[in-house]
Amino acid sequence: MKPEHPAEAGASLELRRLRKRFGAQDVVKSVDLCIKPGEFVTLLGPSGSGKTTTLNMIAGFEQPTGGEILADGKPISDLPTHRRNIGMVFQSYALFPHMTAAQNIAFPLRQRRVPKPEAEARVREALALVHLEKFADRYPKALSGGQQQRVALARAVVFNPRILLMDEPLGALDKKLREALQTEIRRIHRELGVTVVFVTHDQEEALTLSDRIAVFNDGRIEQAATAEELYERPATRFVADFLGDSN
Ligand code: ADP
Repeated sequence: MKPEHPAEAGASLELRRLRKRFGAQDVVKSVDLCIKPGEFVTLLGPSGSGKTTTLNMIAGFEQPTGGEILADGKPISDLPTHRRNIGMVFQSYALFPHMTAAQNIAFPLRQRRVPKPEAEARVREALALVHLEKFADRYPKALSGGQQQRVALARAVVFNPRILLMDEPLGALDKKLREALQTEIRRIHRELGVTVVFVTHDQEEALTLSDRIAVFNDGRIEQAATAEELYERPATRFVADFLGDSN
C-alpha cells in the first residue's frame, strides 16, 4: 500500500474548461482547476452547484460536454473508469452486502487480476491502514456506519490509485464519528501521498482537511485558494458571503 517511490504516489490533475450540460441545463460551466501531485483539494459549495457532476466526470461516470481532464498531463476523458487508476468513496458506503469486509476490500484486486497471495497481503495492509484488522470477516450489516466507511476507504486505496475521489463521504455520520474519520482521512492522505479531490458542502470539514479549497457556485469555481487566502482575500462577494455564513 505504501508507495515505493513517494514521487509516484499522487498524480497531477488538471481540469480545462470542463463543461457538462444535462438537457437544457448547464450544470458545469467551464471549470478550470490545476491540482498538484499529492495535493488535497476540496470542492466546496452549496447543493446543486455542480460539485458531484465535476467529480463524476473525473471518475468517468459522466462524459463531459466540453473541455478536458488530464492526469499527469495526459487526457483521461476517453478512458473507462477502471483504467483511470482512481479510487472512490461515496456518502452511501456502497459495500457489497454479501461479502465480508476483507472480500469487499479485495474486490478491486480481483477485478485487476492481482495474484492471490499478493492480494491477501494488500488486503491485510489496507485493513491495518483503517484499523479494522479484527473485523476482516464481518459482513457490512454487522459493522457500524463509521466502520463501513473505513472499509469503503480501504477498498478505494487497496490498488494504490494515484487519485482518490471522495463525495461527501462523512455526510451520513454523526459529528463525533465525522471528526474521527476526518483525522483518519488526513493521516491516510499523508501516509499514501495520493492526490485527493473531496466534495462537501460543509465548510468546517473543508477547512479541516484541505490544502486548497475550490469554492463552487452555479457551475463555476469562484475561487480556488488556501483556507487562509479565502478568508483574508475572498475574490468575490459570493465567497465572502458563503464563508461568512457559519451554517
Ligand atoms: P452538487 O454536488 O454541488 O450538489 P450536482 O453536481 O449534484 O451538484 O448537481 C448540479 C445540478 O445538476 C443539479 O441541479 C442537479 O439536479 C443536476 N443534475 C445532476 N445530475 C443530473 C442528471 N443525471 N440529469 C439531469 N440533471 C442532473
